[in-house]
Amino acid sequence: MADLAELVASRIIEVPDFPKPGIIFKDLTPLFADGPAFRQVIDGIVAHYGPGSFDTVAGIEARGFVIAAAIAYATGVGVVPVRKGGKLPRETHRASYELEYGEAALEVHIDAFLPGQRVLVVDDVLATGGTAAATLDLVERAGGTVVGFTVLLELSFLPGRERIAPREVHALLAA
Ligand code: AMP
Repeated sequence: MADLAELVASRIIEVPDFPKPGIIFKDLTPLFADGPAFRQVIDGIVAHYGPGSFDTVAGIEARGFVIAAAIAYATGVGVVPVRKGGKLPRETHRASYELEYGEAALEVHIDAFLPGQRVLVVDDVLATGGTAAATLDLVERAGGTVVGFTVLLELSFLPGRERIAPREVHALLAA
């Protein structure tokens, strides 16, 4: 795990004042672009949860899609997109929430999960936890059972973890 934390740390580019003054944006696209590093990270997440521990993976738009799809492929399960408001074509559950830098809404199709399906929820960064809390709520409203929430990076100076407690957060790197 320490190795994976170092690997993630080494592939983050910090962008000050993006998308607005005072925010240090953690750009993880260099990690996605590095094939061996990306594979190690995906394998690490899969190993953490263990084989057979989830039935589907929900990825949060947009960088969560990249990670969720890779986990789904590696484990042979499906992937469900949790999208920003207004993007999904059929009937949805919707949750509004506050971001570290603004307000937004997320949606998931009402039939995205089978009743009781065990869902691993995935995003790139946990900041204030608003996105995660809204997503976990959506997954449960859509009939899924959340078995875990995993991110590559947790901003530990923000209360994201507390916001979704008692649910567990798995972060490869907390910084
Ligand atoms: P939050 O809802 O505050 O936990 O924000 C998490 C969501 O916003 C994730 O989908 C992240 O991709 C994005 N995000 C928030 N803050 C940052 C940041 N400082 N750097 C990169 N992404 C961020």
